[in-house]
Amino acid sequence: TETLTTRDPEIWDAMERELGRQRDEIELIASENIVSAAVLEAQGSVMTNKYAEGYPGRRYYGGCQFVDIAENLAIERAKELFGVGFANVQPNSGSQANQGVFTALLQPGDTILGMSLDAGGHLTHGAKPNQSGKWFNAIQYGVRKQDMELDYDQVAELAAEHNPKMIIAGGSAIPRIIDFARMREIADSVGAYLLVDMAHFAGLVAAGEYPSPFPHAHVATTTTHKTLRGPRGGMILTDDETIAKKVNSAIFPGIQGGPLMHVIAGKAVAFGEALRPNFKLYQKQVIANAQALADELMKGGLDIVTGGTDTHVLLVDLRPKGVTGKATETALGRAHITCNKNGIPFDTEKPTITSGIRLGSPAGTTRGFGETEFRQIGRWITRVVDGLAANGEDDNSPVETTVRAEVQELCDRFPIYPNL
Ligand code: PLP
Repeated sequence: TETLTTRDPEIWDAMERELGRQRDEIELIASENIVSAAVLEAQGSVMTNKYAEGYPGRRYYGGCQFVDIAENLAIERAKELFGVGFANVQPNSGSQANQGVFTALLQPGDTILGMSLDAGGHLTHGAKPNQSGKWFNAIQYGVRKQDMELDYDQVAELAAEHNPKMIIAGGSAIPRIIDFARMREIADSVGAYLLVDMAHFAGLVAAGEYPSPFPHAHVATTTTHKTLRGPRGGMILTDDETIAKKVNSAIFPGIQGGPLMHVIAGKAVAFGEALRPNFKLYQKQVIANAQALADELMKGGLDIVTGGTDTHVLLVDLRPKGVTGKATETALGRAHITCNKNGIPFDTEKPTITSGIRLGSPAGTTRGFGETEFRQIGRWITRVVDGLAANGEDDNSPVETTVRAEVQELCDRFPIYPNL
């Protein structure tokens, strides 16, 4: 009967303060979202107690009849959402979804071709410090200097030169739509698998607001917690039965043991929510909001990489104002606007400093912000950045304090988790 408040006041206090932070700050981290109370409830449920190694109907433990219901619902809803024949909902994270695909289809030492981290790719696509960069011969493509868009010609050249077994499309800071047909054409020209990692834009795909990776991708991975607005986790999708079998064995027993059944229940809830008609309206608004924010920032004299966005994410080039990503992230943080510093393509600053910030609209849109609010946020960001440029990091607090008060008013008008 003891509750967290009395059982563990230190953790309870940290959670209360985190809830307060989420309520009182504008969340612009592009990879984050705000899950529904129903998803939270599923994750905080007794399903966390259950071991369920294996797959529904084929478990290595007794007593799995009810968690089987949850996993089957997650699988069926995922298949419907993305129009594919197979889903594995067990990966604990997006990174493990990618590891699962590598384990299924590659051998250590094989050549892979993915987008480099500094151009917008993800660590798990062959970056040096990551297992994918250590266990594979990882070749990396980037973006074109002239327009900062994915360099398909370079992908084709590198593929012809290195003959990769797998080409990976997708990343963490790609504001424009990826041409999957072109990527598949290149993959086919060298007999490579095409893996699309749609972690960032999966919610847009589910809503039909971004082209589906299928039928072009042999296999797709995603996280479930970004635009898809589910619990923290991963998933693998394919239409190819041979790959499907290999993926199941790769996740369990290949790289994981017991799946997180409470998280899988949360995934089922989130996919159910995503199948409802208003999810499409939400994702349309996500894109409209990101575009409004980009437009307002450009009016304020900032550069946006590629000149805008087709998606939920934008990369701000701060060089016109002469400030760094690191200083801007910290200054905006003091004004209660949360984002992350991010290298821009061909950045000359170190990854710990950077010349850019990455902004995203999914969390704010979930809160109910529309284009009016996102334009206001754009003006606040410009004010803080201009203040930083004029006053320096140590003397910008008057600007940051004023903006923070205005941010608080907006957050109060769009409350989250009223019943917590
Ligand atoms: N793939 C992409 C494109 C991502 O952006 C991310 C998240 O950062 C991941 C994979 C990894 O997901 P996770 O953080 O759940 O391991």
